[in-house]
Amino acid sequence: MHAKTHINRRTLLAGMGAAVTLPTLRTPAFATGAVLDVVATTGMIADTAREIGGDLVNVRALMGPGVDPHAYRQTRTDILAMARADAVLWNGLYLEAQMEDFLADLARKTPVTAVAEQIPEAELVAHDDYTDRFDPHVWMSPRLWIHAANAIADALGAAAPEHSETFTTNAQAYSIRLGELDDYSSHSLATVPSRSRVLITAHDAFNYFGRAYGFDVIGIQGISTESEAGVNRISTLVDMIVEREIGAVFVESSVSDRSVRALIEGAEAKGHSLKIGGELYSDAMGNPGTYEGTYIGMIDHNATTIARALGGAAPARGLNGRLMAEG
Ligand SMILES: [Zn+2]
Repeated sequence: MHAKTHINRRTLLAGMGAAVTLPTLRTPAFATGAVLDVVATTGMIADTAREIGGDLVNVRALMGPGVDPHAYRQTRTDILAMARADAVLWNGLYLEAQMEDFLADLARKTPVTAVAEQIPEAELVAHDDYTDRFDPHVWMSPRLWIHAANAIADALGAAAPEHSETFTTNAQAYSIRLGELDDYSSHSLATVPSRSRVLITAHDAFNYFGRAYGFDVIGIQGISTESEAGVNRISTLVDMIVEREIGAVFVESSVSDRSVRALIEGAEAKGHSLKIGGELYSDAMGNPGTYEGTYIGMIDHNATTIARALGGAAPARGLNGRLMAEG
């Protein structure tokens, strides 16, 4: 894999001739090509590793758009890729619950790093269901994700010590962009009227978001409209939606449509208009090759969509003017 990249580069450079001024690429060591094969579990980790590794790394993400990391189990191809990799990066905190045993085993032969577990414990949110665990959805806070970026730089630097300075420099530059993303999210979301700062969405992925930006987060997954308890819960939620003048609920691919419809109908019956505020990225990014298919684009999309749907002000195309127009 390394050799192929190397030859391609050399051929390219030879073809360009010595007199041609080479364009400035992201990493100073561009002429040597990639030196590390890296495997990352989630798209968010893979994208961050590409930002930090630049042309020095080949990064493969195991989980694509729409893939649920809580349920994902490694395939035979994944196992081969991980066994051959110079570094394997995963989230940890029991996000990849079905891969835990395999990764523990792999760690005896291959350098394996749980990037979310490098975040200081004091900054983690307790898990909803397990008293001795933490919520794994740390990427929902760009500030916290800076810790993950640094952990990735350390892991790459350990695998290729001759380039560790480049990785550290790139991580610092990327952290500045994450800080800007956090500032943008913070300012945009602060324009939502405080009584409407409630995020009603499908599953429990948004606790770090809620803590970072002062939103109450309510998951509606699993509410049955058939049981009496479910009907009571819907009715309580509708009352709160009307009282706090919440204009929108949000969907993820895994959301129960029926619960959302029950909320919208319930609010309508009380003369309150409630709409679907858009689809949010929770555990996976958008399509590769799109802005939403990057970590920064994913968070920009979420913050911009939430702010605009709940009565706040944010530019339609987001922080970098690159978000897809709303459909
Ligand atoms: Zn999740």
